[in-house]
Amino acid sequence: MVLVPVNNLPTSPGLNQAAGSSQSQARPLIHVVNDALPPMTDDQEDQDQKDVSPHTCRHCSRITIDMRQNSKDGKDDGQIGFTEADVISALKDNCALFSAFRQGAYLVSMTSGPDNPIWVERTLKQPAIVNFFEVDWERLKLGYKMNNRLGELVLYNVPGQKPHELFGPQPPPNLLPNSELSYSRARKYLRDCSANHTKCREFNLSHMPTRLLEVVTRPNSPNPDEPHLIVRLVSNPPPAPYATLSYCWGGDQPGKTTKRNVGTYSRNIPLDVLPLTIIDALTVTHGVGMKYLWVDALCIVQDSDQDKMNEISNMHLIYRGAFLTIAAGVASTSLDGFLRPRVHDRGYVFNVRVDSPVGKQEGEIRQAIAMPVRLRRDQEMLPLYTRAWTFQEGQLSTRVLAYGNRGMVFCCLESRHTDGGLEEPITTLRSIDDSIGASFKNLDPGNQSLGGVGHPLAWGVIVEAYTSRELTVGDDKLLAVMAIAEEYKRTKEGVGEYLAGLWRGDMLFQLLWAAHRVSDVKTKFKRPERYRAPSWSWASLDGHFRIFLHQGVLDGSIGYKYACELLHAETTLVGGNPLGQVKGGFIRLRGRVKKVVWKRNGTGKHDHGYGWALGDSESDWVKSGEVPGDDRLSWYVDVPDEWPVKRDIVMSCIEVCTYEAPENLMQFAMVQLYDERGGSPNMTQGRGILLVPVEGQPDTYRRVGTMGCKGYLEGDVGFEKKPYWFDEGHGMRQEVVVI
Ligand SMILES: [Zn+2]
Ligand SMILES: [Zn+2]
Repeated sequence: MVLVPVNNLPTSPGLNQAAGSSQSQARPLIHVVNDALPPMTDDQEDQDQKDVSPHTCRHCSRITIDMRQNSKDGKDDGQIGFTEADVISALKDNCALFSAFRQGAYLVSMTSGPDNPIWVERTLKQPAIVNFFEVDWERLKLGYKMNNRLGELVLYNVPGQKPHELFGPQPPPNLLPNSELSYSRARKYLRDCSANHTKCREFNLSHMPTRLLEVVTRPNSPNPDEPHLIVRLVSNPPPAPYATLSYCWGGDQPGKTTKRNVGTYSRNIPLDVLPLTIIDALTVTHGVGMKYLWVDALCIVQDSDQDKMNEISNMHLIYRGAFLTIAAGVASTSLDGFLRPRVHDRGYVFNVRVDSPVGKQEGEIRQAIAMPVRLRRDQEMLPLYTRAWTFQEGQLSTRVLAYGNRGMVFCCLESRHTDGGLEEPITTLRSIDDSIGASFKNLDPGNQSLGGVGHPLAWGVIVEAYTSRELTVGDDKLLAVMAIAEEYKRTKEGVGEYLAGLWRGDMLFQLLWAAHRVSDVKTKFKRPERYRAPSWSWASLDGHFRIFLHQGVLDGSIGYKYACELLHAETTLVGGNPLGQVKGGFIRLRGRVKKVVWKRNGTGKHDHGYGWALGDSESDWVKSGEVPGDDRLSWYVDVPDEWPVKRDIVMSCIEVCTYEAPENLMQFAMVQLYDERGGSPNMTQGRGILLVPVEGQPDTYRRVGTMGCKGYLEGDVGFEKKPYWFDEGHGMRQEVVVI
């Protein structure tokens, strides 16, 4: 690839030279100091909020990118550059490409052909940094690096112009989500799905919610381009396909249905009382050719506890019954909306010199649209996928039309499409994983990813995914996952009774939940003020939890054994629904119990503390200040903050489960220490839960954490031979009640 300038500039001094050095006068590129540049204005981009057409102007149209296959032998023909006056003049004229250069994106240097990287020097802002610019010939993308962040431009054919095979078959991303082009694509995906997808048809239940919003357009609307929507609330609607909305409330909502307005809403809902996210959802419903939409804030009478309870119990049926779910991925609140033109993603028109079909040496010049690929910092999780309530909404839907930062994605059990742009996430030279669809990697309609996974492994995955999300009202902890539980019960075998977020079938496995602190340090772990569930349930706490067993056990490749018995388990329900809230409950276990002493470090984010068996002295275990406590034990106290720092806390640990750990399960440090004697013996690992006694109730405990324990065999280099911790002294089989 060669960047060809119109004007000829002197040769570049070399590839690896840092910009901003004293040799700048030897360079082909101008060094522009910030003072020399015209001031940047925010309103450059705001000039026309609706204009999403790719930028081109007399300044940037002088650049031609040479993509002829045979242009690689060029020596000095690969330079591109601009004079300082060129740059200043382009910026004065608000050239978007030069503005992007100036913001530190990419700039112009030299190349030695398609096999070699192109180095770019960024010269417009101090401190100057050398940037890397290369092309991915497979996918035809230009990549750049700036301030250690990565960016890319993807080249597309210009719609309406004769396409060139070099740019692939995809149309560029559609930056207007509220456009006929976007809706016609969505309608096509929906038609294909309902006509051809057996899985989707089978998953989609026939169910009609109690109430639906009916949306039609006013006949003879003065402006046919912006149809005037007429909306009303219909009770007991006739059988018809309906859409549902999955969105973040983000606080109280204007216009929600109450006992007072439910009557007038059945005649007409004035649009100006509704928040923008809901109006946008009504627009989409109409745009894809549907007439009914279910929105919780409007289809449930929000000040009637009875109505709420009824409808929340039906959530499973409502989402399973919907023909389509509209996911307002990008909206953090009901006021945000999600159909704005994405003006910030405007591309550029590039001139590209391509090989000529008749073999002319100079090739021919085509135009391509270069669309920026977002930098990693812009790909943060969409608000919708951080909320607990929306977890089940997506999982129980058959077809989802999701709106994110980068565009619209349609996803059903058998297909996935984007509104233009690349459909598949790209993994590139520098491991950028981005595409229109990348923000939606959590989209899993029909909960397909767990289709082949059995109980209890699948429930562990659900708990991990669900508890990573935030809940505004803590009391909803069990309610917001009720529909998933309903579906789980229907599809998985051996689950038995549901007890405060755990199933009786293989309950011992599920008791081994633990704080997931490693990957998610931002999570707050805390015990809510109001009782929500027994202490043995993850639902009793706020925080991100996962089953505390080795990955090999979790993916089913390593077997495990239960080391204790579940003698009894029961809960007391708040209402009549066994999948709903609870006000009490207990389990009775029989297994080996050891008394332990745990001490909180009081330092760092991963405050697991350390400890040893009661009766052993702390000083026996402290080794060179590195890993205090018994090194066979790992501690996962649920909420370390609730304990005083550096104080001995006496707890009990009941052994729950064991497994034989094959060689590759050895901790990293141990693997490092292994010598060449080959192989290492298996060793036993165990898992237990940590308990503290409940005052005044003999043999009754509260769960406060999870513990891992193991032993060292002869040959575990670097470790003294020690028995499996539970085999060593003190471990008595006894019965405990946990509340
Ligand atoms: Zn321009
Ligand atoms: Zn489908």
